[in-house]
Amino acid sequence: MLNEKRLIENFIDMVKISSPSLNEREVADYLKKILLDMGLEVEEDNAGKDHNGNTGNIIAVLKSPGKRKILFSSHMDTVTPCKKINPIIENGIIKTDGTSVLGGDDKAGIAAIIEMIRMIQESGDEHPEIIAVFSVAEEIGLLGAQSFDLDKYKPDLVFVIDSGGTPGTAVIETPYAAKGKIEIIGKAAHAGLAPELGINALTVAAHAITKIRMGRIDEKTTSNIGIINGGTAVNIVMPNVSMMYEARSFSGEILDDLLAETFMIFQETAEKFGAEFKHSVKKGYNGYKLEENSEILKCFEKACGNIGIECKKVSSGGGCDANIYSGRGIVSINMGIGMSKVHTTEEFIKIEDIINCTKIIYEIIKGI
Ligand SMILES: [Zn+2]
Repeated sequence: MLNEKRLIENFIDMVKISSPSLNEREVADYLKKILLDMGLEVEEDNAGKDHNGNTGNIIAVLKSPGKRKILFSSHMDTVTPCKKINPIIENGIIKTDGTSVLGGDDKAGIAAIIEMIRMIQESGDEHPEIIAVFSVAEEIGLLGAQSFDLDKYKPDLVFVIDSGGTPGTAVIETPYAAKGKIEIIGKAAHAGLAPELGINALTVAAHAITKIRMGRIDEKTTSNIGIINGGTAVNIVMPNVSMMYEARSFSGEILDDLLAETFMIFQETAEKFGAEFKHSVKKGYNGYKLEENSEILKCFEKACGNIGIECKKVSSGGGCDANIYSGRGIVSINMGIGMSKVHTTEEFIKIEDIINCTKIIYEIIKGI
């Protein structure tokens, strides 16, 4: 049975431990002790070494030989300020004294996963194999998840608990994204004495920009130039201009096509004017889109239904560890746990939401 006191005490203990990205050592050691005491197989991988952090991902397995393998994941790191966190419980809400983030993003998820495993152990019921992954350095680019060895653990489904929205919220699609710098290199010349000897990079950029597709491209796709810099002096033909560009799409293919088209237009325009075009636009993490009748979504909906919670399917512009796992071909979902005003010192979470999310993942495991 769900032990509310145990669940919330564990959460409070964890948030009190400072764990900025790449410095998760202390909370990892706290977790290792708990997980070993629970009788799980516990391992720390090489993610810390890979990314110059002091901690690897913590992986705990509740074995169930021959059964399906279900992975649950939440991240250990938090954004700053998080040096000293004083959690305050007031009217069923956990918040801070206003000097730090709470770190419910994502320790609420960790607390829920641990409590769910304890419930499964105490029930004595049959269960699938449960792989708990507590990742590092999620907040600075999903680094821990990138280092995680999926092939070693071979999960069938991945449930990441790392989203706002009340429990019952399922992030069913997140975009593919690309961003970086676009540069036009023209040629400087005295603007008053010999402008014809120069190539104005801004003129080149302007011609290209009127041809590329920008803003809302279609219902799945957007792109933007958000920053532009260039020039050296008012009396010098602008020799270079740089622009920060981004594009997003819920379709990886459409994004690829849009990028190719955009670069081609810049390239052709630059050539026409005798200028040079360079860019450092890179695709980030993969997006994902779950099919309406996918097993993972059905599992999730059924679990919510079992405890009378409404399932809300949403799309999210952000990325989380689920993007990495699904990018490697494992069907993954990101779930809401009610974390609110995250990445601010006003961050808070309702106790009720941590409890309900725990109930949902317990029902998920019972239904598989
Ligand atoms: Zn998070």
